[in-house]
Amino acid sequence: MGKLLNYQMNNFDVCIIGGGPGGYTAAIEAERKGLKVLLVEKKSLGGTCLNLGCIPTKSLLKSAELYSDILKNQNKLFNISNLSINFDEIIKNSQKNIKRLLSGLEYLINNKKITYINGNAKFKDKKTIKVSCNKKEEVYNSDIFIISTGSIPKNPKNIMPDNNIIYDSDGILQLSNLPKSILIVGGGYIGIEFAFFFNSLGSEVTIVEDQKSILSVMDTEIINELKKNFKGKGIKIEENSKVSINKKNENHIDVNINNSKFFYEKILVATGRQPLTEGLDIESLDIKLNNKNFIITDSNYKTNVENIFAIGDVTEGPMLAHRASFDGFRIIDNIYGDKINTKISVPSCVYCQPEIATIGSTEDSLLENKINFKKAITPFKSNGKSIAQGENRGFCKIMVDKEFKILGAHIIGKGATEMISELNILMSNDLSIESIINTVYPHPTLSEIIYECCLQLIGRERHI
Ligand SMILES: Cc1cc2nc3c(=O)[nH]c(=O)nc-3n(C[C@H](O)[C@H](O)[C@H](O)COP(=O)(O)OP(=O)(O)OC[C@H]3O[C@@H](n4cnc5c(N)ncnc54)[C@H](O)[C@@H]3O)c2cc1C
Repeated sequence: MGKLLNYQMNNFDVCIIGGGPGGYTAAIEAERKGLKVLLVEKKSLGGTCLNLGCIPTKSLLKSAELYSDILKNQNKLFNISNLSINFDEIIKNSQKNIKRLLSGLEYLINNKKITYINGNAKFKDKKTIKVSCNKKEEVYNSDIFIISTGSIPKNPKNIMPDNNIIYDSDGILQLSNLPKSILIVGGGYIGIEFAFFFNSLGSEVTIVEDQKSILSVMDTEIINELKKNFKGKGIKIEENSKVSINKKNENHIDVNINNSKFFYEKILVATGRQPLTEGLDIESLDIKLNNKNFIITDSNYKTNVENIFAIGDVTEGPMLAHRASFDGFRIIDNIYGDKINTKISVPSCVYCQPEIATIGSTEDSLLENKINFKKAITPFKSNGKSIAQGENRGFCKIMVDKEFKILGAHIIGKGATEMISELNILMSNDLSIESIINTVYPHPTLSEIIYECCLQLIGRERHI
């Protein structure tokens, strides 16, 4: 009888492995459908996004932005003496924000009919997992499995983080002192955000990138505008460059960049991320991975094993929290309800200042693929709110096809990340810019820049 009860208790409709934005969203959606749900997370709910990614970095960036803004206005708008940073508090504040959101998420999951286990999951067979937790191992069965195990930093073999002098993006979040100088290896969005953070607080910052450009997948005009701003702030950018380590000791590290010698106090390695499937024992089920070790799925998130699905960073696609949570939102409908076309347009954002937000094709790729387009650019400095805020760097660039549907939109400027979604609504719903033109925009707002840019596309611009 005990065995039977145990069997019933450990039998689920759907089991989700990984409690990041992909996994916990899928769990909430599955519970809403009335399914018996098991969610297994080996570390902390919220995954990389909440604990090591989006939230701590955005908290750090806000402190850096605030400090830059005060410095800019010091002894101009305000008389402030003895202004200095409290690095320890800046780090503590980011950790405090994590805790606050984590307790909200834990409350949410614990107050739903979701069985949540804080343990490490490993497949036994295609309908069973073993979960180790507090040195005990329990077996659980489920009809459906959703793998949402995310990703971890990918480090070059010649610059391995020790999280003492050479850090990865996880370790740098615990740094105890502001370094005098820091080399950031990798000019993707993580490297760029940390470059802004350290430079704003006063560190000497160099970014070294082995591709021909930092943020190489982005639109060239956007990259050039960012570089202009970063160089103006004193951030050094070395592109098409290779770095190797000569010597390190407690106080500094001696590196070679393109055969010249440099010294830094710290290094941050931000050379990308790799999918995390290690320890799941998916090899025993012969789940297919691609050549970069991402789990291969079809457009309904299904792997080559009938009842096993995968979402988020562990699958190929933009390694971003909003993609993962959108996957988590869609997958339950796809498995248990109406199959929805999973073709989505995913915006990319960089939260340095000026911020960057982009969606769809770059101008370079439209030209390369010989796609006809019309383009308009509206500078932030033509906008009342930007001027009033004292921050008017940047521009909004929109490219449309002959039906005035958006092919690509790229914004650089303060507030860009809050502006991109309205353009994404058009793209994702196959609407033309007419929907914007027929809308009354509140004044003064930054979103009027988008309105103005759309007016320009139909030849009715006002402010430029
Ligand atoms: C520094 C940094 C900044 C970032 N900033 C942004 C940003 O501003 N915006 C944005 O959109 N994205 C950002 N990201 C990316 C974002 O964090 C990820 O894209 C997102 O977290 C992916 O969600 P996920 O659910 O797929 O995986 P994850 O969030 O990685 O969650 C996977 C979870 O699975 C758990 N797990 C793994 N294996 C097992 C197992 N065997 N058993 C049980 N549990 C397991 C892990 O512990 C983890 O908690 C950032 C990332 C970093 C590193």
